[in-house]
Amino acid sequence: MNRRPGGADLSRLLREFWGLEGTFEALGGENQNHLVTTLDGSRYVLKVASARATREEVELERAAVRAIEASGVGVALPQMVPTRTGEVVAPAGPEPWPLLARLLTFVPGDSWGAFGAASPDRLAGAGWLIGRLAGVLGDLDVPAAHRTHRWDLTRAGLLRGEVACIRDPSRRKLATEAFRLWAGAAPWLAEVPHGFIHGDLNDENVRVEGDRVVGLLDFGDALRNPLVCELAIALAYLLLEEPDPWDAGARLVEGYHGVRPLSVRECELLFPLMCGRLAVSVAIAAGRRGEQAPREAWFTTEAAAWRALEGFAGIDPAEAADRLTARIDVTPHPDRGQARDELLARRTSRFSAALSLSFATPLKAVRGRGAYLYDERGRAHLDLYNNVCHVGHCHPRVVAAGQAQMGRLNTNTRYLYDLLAEYADRLCATLPEGLDHCFLVNSGSEANELALRLARAHTGHRDVIVLENAYHGHTSTLIDISPYKFDGPGGQGRKEWVHVAPMPDGYRGPYRGQGRDAGVAYGEAVGRLLEGMDRRPAAFIAESLPSVGGQIVPPEGYLETAFRHVRSAGGLCILDEVQVGFGRVGTHFWGFEQQGVVPDVVVMGKPMGNGHPLAAVVTTAAVAHSFAETGMEYFSTFGGNPVSCAIGLAVLDVVQEEGLQEHALAVGTRLRDGLRSLMDRHPVIGDVRGTGLFIGVELVRDRDTREPAPREAARLVDALRDRRILTGTDGPHENVIKIKGPLVLQEADADLAVELVDEVLGEGRR
Ligand code: PMP
Repeated sequence: MNRRPGGADLSRLLREFWGLEGTFEALGGENQNHLVTTLDGSRYVLKVASARATREEVELERAAVRAIEASGVGVALPQMVPTRTGEVVAPAGPEPWPLLARLLTFVPGDSWGAFGAASPDRLAGAGWLIGRLAGVLGDLDVPAAHRTHRWDLTRAGLLRGEVACIRDPSRRKLATEAFRLWAGAAPWLAEVPHGFIHGDLNDENVRVEGDRVVGLLDFGDALRNPLVCELAIALAYLLLEEPDPWDAGARLVEGYHGVRPLSVRECELLFPLMCGRLAVSVAIAAGRRGEQAPREAWFTTEAAAWRALEGFAGIDPAEAADRLTARIDVTPHPDRGQARDELLARRTSRFSAALSLSFATPLKAVRGRGAYLYDERGRAHLDLYNNVCHVGHCHPRVVAAGQAQMGRLNTNTRYLYDLLAEYADRLCATLPEGLDHCFLVNSGSEANELALRLARAHTGHRDVIVLENAYHGHTSTLIDISPYKFDGPGGQGRKEWVHVAPMPDGYRGPYRGQGRDAGVAYGEAVGRLLEGMDRRPAAFIAESLPSVGGQIVPPEGYLETAFRHVRSAGGLCILDEVQVGFGRVGTHFWGFEQQGVVPDVVVMGKPMGNGHPLAAVVTTAAVAHSFAETGMEYFSTFGGNPVSCAIGLAVLDVVQEEGLQEHALAVGTRLRDGLRSLMDRHPVIGDVRGTGLFIGVELVRDRDTREPAPREAARLVDALRDRRILTGTDGPHENVIKIKGPLVLQEADADLAVELVDEVLGEGRR
């Protein structure tokens, strides 16, 4: 512990370094601050802090104070009083780490909330001042401002764990919801203007006299941040005593907007950021209650912050944004569109009922960012199962790449353009040597169709070996090779040229629970299937990690054994990486690399264009050559067009530069371990498996018999959807919860998912 300097230390400091004598009075707040009254009645504040913090603060505070003074906005600021030797800091001892002291001029005025609610003039004036600060401070380039700290609002999610310290369950829920609101705002923060901010314009640091703000204190939290965070933090604290915080907030926002116009996006961020700040405040306070010597000053806003969170509970973000912008000419959430039920009826009248919707209560989504989809009420839904928006919904870099190229050139592969060659080079560089010939198409189905044609052209055979419950696409031929379809509702059964091998499932099936032996045994089953065939195969096709089949991680040795048999029978090995490729499995870029094999043909799709229709088949020169030898020209109108290539390149850039494969491994492991830990409490969880952000949770009625629990799985998915977590079911029994969302999922999101699965399963048992 840092020893706090006592009265004698302080007197000595003051005398020795500033040549002053005075009396001391401890001030509230986070820091070791003392009001000093000297013999002639002058007042100062003596601040004592760790040497590191002080030096940073000195740099930040000096720059900020100078800039604000020069701007003439007319507020009092803490000025540094030099020591007798002209320094601004003085060593204040003692160990274990050095302390430094500063003497600052006293800033007059009362705390913001000293007399209850603020007048409309004061609210507007405070808004004006905060808007002016954005202009005055925003562009300051102070190296020390490029930092983060516990109260950095852009990283509030890191404090979510502190919620566990809140004893009252209903308050814990409130704080959790507030953190969720923040998490829904977090993906947008990088896209709004940043600059230097004070970072803590709370009710103590904003000093007032009557209707006017007269001073600002404490630049100790200043940092570079989204500018809107300054306003959100001020709103979080300055409305605490307001009987009508919405009206007061709207006045403050109006004052701000008059000097620094807010963008639509910034207006939408205000409420989630306010709630995030309040959540951080109550969470930190709860954590500190557990410390050995809690200080009263740590809890000064705790009660009011809880009251505020209670008042804000249950209000939709879009509604809150409307209220906060009631006095300005900005329309937040402009994309709300038609009411959900009307839209549903309209859709039903125009589309075949074969086109299904997810969830008992369908979700209307109006936008997406990161791992979140937002509904028409501005509510963020955590997307845990869409693997198309691989690098995050509407990743700005991918969007920009597509937009720029769309405005430059879009043509087809009958012309020469650099992007086609560049993309093919980059794609092939991710694959093992030998897989170096590309065909770019528009969907996974198209890619699988082409893969089959390649195999047939190369081998001269027609038969295909597939896995149980596999799905490879929606064309006629692909339905023929997809047991999930031909054996499912509306299916017409297996064609004689299709041969179905057992699913290499380590949890179910004949070789369950046998580890590598199971892998080899399932591989041998492919060999036996081949022996029983009276024709040679064109291909064996499988997902490297079967997802539609139930989020299966094949046991080690499976593909190696199966490939050996297929190749010796003259067939090609096609691996469908439509769902699992591009870093999802965490350990490797491609799922098949986990099994140490190299296929003859790789099929890729979904994540490749992050939502833009881009898919591919990559194969060897020999196979590509055989295909050309047939003499038939190959052409896809849209496949590999310049816009698709630009988007594909941006996706590869983002995966690589943002380290998303490694991130998927870390956050996926955390999520899988968290879900696995629930098995102690919830016998319905029979198995939790996966790798990276490819995870399956298999529900069973009985862990011994492994009787599938599809109804429980459907109920869990719908209950999670009601809690704004999106998952789905998969597997032959529809009892596996599939988790395979965007790779940008955050740790706090993973923890939240685990908590909510726990909550729903707990309710199911009651
Ligand atoms: N292969 C697999 C493994 C798939 O999951 C899918 C789609 N779910 C496809 C192929 C077909 O892709 P698309 O829908 O893009 O045609």
